[in-house]
Amino acid sequence: MINYVVLSRGDRYSNELTERFHLLAASRGFVRNDKKPDTVVSIGGDGTLLHAFHTYLDRVDDIAFVGVHTGHLGFYADWKADEIEQLVEMMAEQKPRIVRYPIAQIELDTPEGATGYLALNEFTLKGVDGTLVVQVNINDEPFETFRGDGMVISTPSGSTAYNKSLNGAVIHPSIPSLQLAEIASINNRVYRTLGTSVILPEHHHCDIVSKKDQRLLLTIDHLSIERADIRSIRCSVAPAKISFARYRPFPFWNRVRDAFIDFSDN
Ligand code: NAP
Repeated sequence: MINYVVLSRGDRYSNELTERFHLLAASRGFVRNDKKPDTVVSIGGDGTLLHAFHTYLDRVDDIAFVGVHTGHLGFYADWKADEIEQLVEMMAEQKPRIVRYPIAQIELDTPEGATGYLALNEFTLKGVDGTLVVQVNINDEPFETFRGDGMVISTPSGSTAYNKSLNGAVIHPSIPSLQLAEIASINNRVYRTLGTSVILPEHHHCDIVSKKDQRLLLTIDHLSIERADIRSIRCSVAPAKISFARYRPFPFWNRVRDAFIDFSDN
């Protein structure tokens, strides 16, 4: 029996498709369960799936996501709107292949204690009042002093999002890793950074240590937090993973091609 919930982007078309999904699902005996679903269907775009991930974060080990797009082809939203009948039929009749992809965790060290967050795409760190000035340590060893607009710490799944706009590498989402990309670093005698993105494996961690009194803007996927008391941020690959329910193959590199290179089919 499928216990499911649907999260819609909220526009008219996504809402209509959500109603259609509920009707089809009811005819197949699926059970709507907003509190403890096993399957979370997101209808909208990749951004909608990010919202769905954060809505059901406390059940991340127990749920699998399915994404339907009502705009353009996405990385998380890979079912087309006109395939919704086929999707419900496959959900009713097939056992999905569950693919599990790494996510990122950070722990903020503040005078009030430590606070942890998980991200599906990335964390970003920027200065609010001026450039960001931080020390970056990798595995407790000093690595570089960064001064510039900000840093983006992305998951492999997020490598096609903000990270890609910064010329970061696109990483296959099955590779447990974190990518640190710079946003406009200043390089001179005092501040020197590598200038390229860095990819850490899952058994490594990095600490971003604040080098001055500064208000920081931290984003966690689509969410943002402003704080003036962050002493440092520890970033690593999280022990938890996100699960996607796959009812048909859709190779990642085909998605990369269809999203960025060859638009003829979507
Ligand atoms: P948004 O500004 O409304 O959407 C940003 C765009 O990123 C949307 O087109 C979204 O696709 C796409 N996207 C999301 N996850 C993706 C992924 N894993 N791979 C490829 N594209 C992806 O913001 P939002 O919907 O709240 O999403 C927040 C995300 O925006 C952040 O996680 C960050 O990655 C991204 N962002 C990018 C930049 C940049 O590239 N300069 C700057 C800030 C934030 P859909 O249209 O399908 O939803």
